[in-house]
Amino acid sequence: MEMNPLSLNTNIYIVDDEPDQVNMLIEMLSLVGLNAKGYTSPALFIEQSITENDIVLLDLNMPSMDGIEVMRILHDNACKPDYLLMSGFDERVLHSAKQFAEAKKITVKGTFTKPLDIRSFISFIESLYQKKLSSLNVFNKLHDTPESKLSISLDELKQSLKEHRFTLFYQPKIHLSSGRLQGFEALIRLNHPEKGLVFPDQFIHLAEQHSLISEVTDEVVTQVIRDYHQFIQAGITPNISINISAQDLMNLNMPERLESMLKKANIAPHLITVELTESSILSSVSDSLDILSRMRMKGFPISIDDFGTGHSSLVQLYRIPFTELKIDQHFVMRMMTDDEAISIVKICILLAKELNMSTVAEGIEDQNTFDKLKGLGCEVGQGYLISKPLPLNSICAWVSQNKQTLL
Ligand code: C2E
Ligand code: CA
Ligand code: CA
Repeated sequence: MEMNPLSLNTNIYIVDDEPDQVNMLIEMLSLVGLNAKGYTSPALFIEQSITENDIVLLDLNMPSMDGIEVMRILHDNACKPDYLLMSGFDERVLHSAKQFAEAKKITVKGTFTKPLDIRSFISFIESLYQKKLSSLNVFNKLHDTPESKLSISLDELKQSLKEHRFTLFYQPKIHLSSGRLQGFEALIRLNHPEKGLVFPDQFIHLAEQHSLISEVTDEVVTQVIRDYHQFIQAGITPNISINISAQDLMNLNMPERLESMLKKANIAPHLITVELTESSILSSVSDSLDILSRMRMKGFPISIDDFGTGHSSLVQLYRIPFTELKIDQHFVMRMMTDDEAISIVKICILLAKELNMSTVAEGIEDQNTFDKLKGLGCEVGQGYLISKPLPLNSICAWVSQNKQTLL
């Protein structure tokens, strides 16, 4: 393989219709000193003056113009950058795009499936261009983003913890077959005096990085307990799901702590589901097995969140006593238009049944998806179609407005 070290005048263009993906990649590549530019509109991208020194990370599946068309147009305009191709799930699409490129003598340096595995992407760039980037380093740098670039600084986070400036939003989960309320997921927001509501993606990483996550989790539990009495007053005893992070799993007395806080408030453990993402479990398998087994023995339901995005094996799934599997919204949102996504959803539902877990689909945004999931035997659904996450008062009002169907 020909190695051409990145020169200072190399631009890396990221062309992908998903803005979050583009922003994340730009940030990551800039952190390692590369000049990255992002485009969510392929039409706008092809108007740039692209040179043969440039690299284009190109999504093949974009609604307005697909990746193959982008390559064709640039080729016809005699623009000859190197390409890195990405596609959701389908290796075959990537393969045929590669064949198209070969026929046109377009250079494709690599292909990736989405969701992009950042670690392997970085090590690929590293090996391809012999840049001395350590993948780990990139990760550290990523989380080490200068505080000014984040909308919340460490001091602001500490201050917010001190002043308990957090609030929970609740998003309902309903049984798909009956429409009855199953419970709520508690989603944290930081209430900043000047900046207003700050979303968790702006401060959870920061809290994890500075070992403050257990304080954040304490805030969540304390507030759920406080809010629970309002739910009871509104005539419901819902299940509430809370999100805990990988670092909470390193705190071995976490199950006892949670149990005693709830006991004091007279809330039974079966009412509080603990959600963990696939990746957080994998980062500390032996401790997490210990903690999660004890949680289960104490009666807490435990849920594996964002399922399908990590790499948990069947054996791990079997060993950890999960009661619920949450199908990642990425697949749910694409299941009506993407064959692979619907296959993954179907497999998740079958797998959960086989392991005696209930299934929750999150990210349901339209009626067709709702109906399809119901037909497939998915038990519980969550998403904007049903309701966005709402503050306590609004969610109680929502329940009382929809009493007939929910209760
Ligand atoms: P998550 O646990 O996967 O939560 C679901 C996210 O998807 C929430 O974003 C929710 O608002 C959003 N969502 C739900 N339904 C839909 C839909 O139909 N369409 C779309 N586009 N989005 C939908 P949010 O509240 O911004 O939370 C983001 C992430 O932050 C959560 O992802 C979770 O990983 C983390 N997080 C939230 N609260 C906490 C917390 O208390 N502790 C910890 N450790 N992490 C938290
Ligand atoms: Ca969650
Ligand atoms: Ca999720």
